[in-house]
Amino acid sequence: MMKKRSVGIIGAGAAGLCAIRHFKDHSKLFDPIVCYEQTNLIGGTWNYVEDVGIDPQTNLPVHSSIYRDMRVNGPVQIMDFPDYPFQSVKSYTHHSDVLQYLHDYSSRFNLYSFIRFGQHLKYVSREMDSWLIEVQDLKTGSIYKKLYDILIVCPGRYSKPFWPSISTISQFGGSLIHSHDYRTSEPYFGKRVAVIGAGPSGIDITLELSSLALEVFFINNTANQFANLPKNVQQLKGELYQFGHDSICIRYKETEIHLNMLDAIILATGYRLSLDYIDESSCGIELNQDNTINGIYRHFINISHPTMALLSICMPTLSFPLYHQQILYYIKLLNGEIYHPTKEEMISESEKDHEIRKTVLLYRDKDRHLLKNLQLLKNYFELIENDGQLKPIKPVVFSLLEYIVKTRNENPIGYKEFNYRLVDDSSFQIIYDLIEDKIGG
Ligand SMILES: Cc1cc2nc3c(=O)[nH]c(=O)nc-3n(C[C@H](O)[C@H](O)[C@H](O)COP(=O)(O)OP(=O)(O)OC[C@H]3O[C@@H](n4cnc5c(N)ncnc54)[C@H](O)[C@@H]3O)c2cc1C
Repeated sequence: MMKKRSVGIIGAGAAGLCAIRHFKDHSKLFDPIVCYEQTNLIGGTWNYVEDVGIDPQTNLPVHSSIYRDMRVNGPVQIMDFPDYPFQSVKSYTHHSDVLQYLHDYSSRFNLYSFIRFGQHLKYVSREMDSWLIEVQDLKTGSIYKKLYDILIVCPGRYSKPFWPSISTISQFGGSLIHSHDYRTSEPYFGKRVAVIGAGPSGIDITLELSSLALEVFFINNTANQFANLPKNVQQLKGELYQFGHDSICIRYKETEIHLNMLDAIILATGYRLSLDYIDESSCGIELNQDNTINGIYRHFINISHPTMALLSICMPTLSFPLYHQQILYYIKLLNGEIYHPTKEEMISESEKDHEIRKTVLLYRDKDRHLLKNLQLLKNYFELIENDGQLKPIKPVVFSLLEYIVKTRNENPIGYKEFNYRLVDDSSFQIIYDLIEDKIGG
């Protein structure tokens, strides 16, 4: 009989929960399965924390970056795990419903007993063909070590704010925060505010502020500028490069724009990967300054030691379905149910992927793990679904995704008022003001 292999999982957010759920289905091969979670809660990002700075519960920096009134940025009908439908009539539901969904998922698949709460991973190294982890018990302060055959690292990637390095930043005398610390719009009543960055948080916060602030300057460098923004929102294309006492300067090509009399600035400038507890040399991966990692295959499998998977590296749209497919594929790979590529094959495919991104998609090096482009995302799903002989994600998921991305760009103020229903595997319905429209099929 094959010896059972032990599995350590770091983090009980959506990715870690999904990992427990599927490894536990193979408990004849994998045992024990232990998940280490630093907080006392499942759900990771989806646990709204009113505090900023240090989380009084863990004494660690606050993990979650969500704000009080946040609603999801894509319909829950395509955001859910493929084996556990999100039951909601509203498509763009409040963040608390996602947390409830993750609790329901955990109850349905009996995941809680696999999780050790209040346990903070401090160090990972490769020792004697195993993964050695050092964990701090946050209740007692004591540090202990454990060895695992397989290690799944799922700490999330939206917790450690990325601050642009601009030397004049300290000159700004008004309120200056990163979006990680944004909670509500009320403090910005009647103010002139600049929001830097047009990721999902940047656009969301801009719109929240517009209902209370005097004026919002929405500064971003994206190719597709947003249409139909509120009247008190001024969108400016450019890159922030200088701060003054109550001003900033942005630059686009040869043009400079100075914005004066600013009361506040919110930097929605993204996040840093935070994996400093990994001993790179023994683990065989290399963490780059630009948030990318050398030595991983298909954006999550350690090439040197494929018994380590990192589920927080790639930046996908459809993260729950992606975690689901990645884990299923990975378990089959570990079990020898499907072809396991050689080290050379893994390196060669990763290099090709990087090259295509650079030469065809004109991506920057730092976008090496980005999976937001619809075609790239579809190709990725197809790749692991074909190689892993998995049930593919339904085509309707991609057609609805394509539709909502267009809607979001054209109608940033109103797109969250639309509701959708999946009719079958290839078509969906829009439900808006009781008008129904069937698309696809
Ligand atoms: C503002 C915002 C809005 C978003 N909106 C959406 C959306 O609408 N739809 C969508 O699909 N996605 C959205 N996302 C992305 C979201 O992060 C992912 O969908 C997903 O929830 C990430 O799950 P995760 O398990 O990878 O990470 P997380 O949810 O971050 O969970 C990681 C867990 O690991 C734990 N952990 C971290 N480090 C350690 C350690 N050293 N030791 C022990 N435990 C540790 C953390 O405490 C946490 O519980 C949003 C993200 C943000 C920040």
